[in-house]
Amino acid sequence: MSTADDLIAETEAHCAHTYHPLPVVVARAEGAWVTDVEGRRFLDFLAGYSALNFGHGHPRLLDAARAQLDRVTLTSRAFHHDRFAPFCAGLAALCGKEMVLPMNTGAEAVETAVKTARKWGYRVRGVPAGRARIVVAEGNFHGRTTTVISFSTDPEARADFGPYTPGFDVVPYGDLAALRGALTEDTVAVLLEPIQGEAGVRVPPPGYLAGVRELTRERGVLFVADEIQSGLGRTGRTFACEHEGVVPDVYVLGKALGGGIVPVSAVVADEEVLGVFRPGEHGSTFGGNPLACAVALEVVAMLRTGEYQERAARLGEVLHRRLSASAAGPGPVTEVRGRGLWAGVDVDPAYGTGRELSERLLRRGVLVKETHGSTLRLAPPLVISEEDLEWGVDRLAAVLGGA
Ligand code: PLP
Repeated sequence: MSTADDLIAETEAHCAHTYHPLPVVVARAEGAWVTDVEGRRFLDFLAGYSALNFGHGHPRLLDAARAQLDRVTLTSRAFHHDRFAPFCAGLAALCGKEMVLPMNTGAEAVETAVKTARKWGYRVRGVPAGRARIVVAEGNFHGRTTTVISFSTDPEARADFGPYTPGFDVVPYGDLAALRGALTEDTVAVLLEPIQGEAGVRVPPPGYLAGVRELTRERGVLFVADEIQSGLGRTGRTFACEHEGVVPDVYVLGKALGGGIVPVSAVVADEEVLGVFRPGEHGSTFGGNPLACAVALEVVAMLRTGEYQERAARLGEVLHRRLSASAAGPGPVTEVRGRGLWAGVDVDPAYGTGRELSERLLRRGVLVKETHGSTLRLAPPLVISEEDLEWGVDRLAAVLGGA
């Protein structure tokens, strides 16, 4: 049996270095806890960047996956399968929309949303051919594909990957006047994260999302909400947009939709928008496969009760009460942001980089990961117990207190 050090060395030798993982090698996991190859247990405060909203190995999701594995796992979209219609109808209903276009990863769903908005712009809005533009926000994170990084403002994500896809205008996040100024006759959509996850759980100023909704409606352009990280219960509501009573034209979903078991993503909108596609114009071999649909259908059923959203809201209050207390007192925490069971904690860089703090927390049995600089992102699974949540926050407080 290889040790953690052996496995890490082998990874370094044989895997391209696109990540710098913490030195823990997970072998098993259940609920909010993972166990490494040497039998050490850690509390997961990252939850696969929100892909594990329902925790590791949720019995309902595992049962759905196992039952489907014994029946059929892949048909391609060349044929129908019996899990497809219930999944599409169920997810559309959860979103209050009419249609779904399933894909696999988040970046693919964002690409799909970009294509949807452009085609809608030409066919429905009447933008002249080849002129469609999409407004995005500074600090965005929508994935890693070439088009998506073309409108990233993070130099690390872009450098040496050009030439870039044109047709995007970048405005400061949270600034309605800048957004108004960026909309032109050729704008087809505004694409935003309702809360910017990778940027450090940046919550826009109150009224921003409602303002974006009003402006996009007024100007006849689509509001595309990338709820891949913020959606499906994380913030205490099904969608983060709901906190401002906002219904976007298009939802982009991923991560938790696959229950932490299979990659499942989707673009969800009304027929007026997604109806622009014709056979042969877009697709994916694995998009909407039977296994993905079976798991995602169960995810939709779990979200329909509101139980997980309510849990995220209630435990989120505990988390934010504790974190605000540490931000208010003397100590290295300079700011805390977030909503529901999701928080960005900025730490005075003099106290340590985000990486160093994550490593210190790892040594105390809690898994978190820094985002930019000295920001820690906390996103425990929504199934975490209150006791475990408190335990994890105690460890964080100890690390930040230097104890
Ligand atoms: N959009 C948002 C808001 C995300 O947070 C992410 C991933 O972190 C993505 C898109 C990309 O998803 P994926 O990594 O599945 O391609």
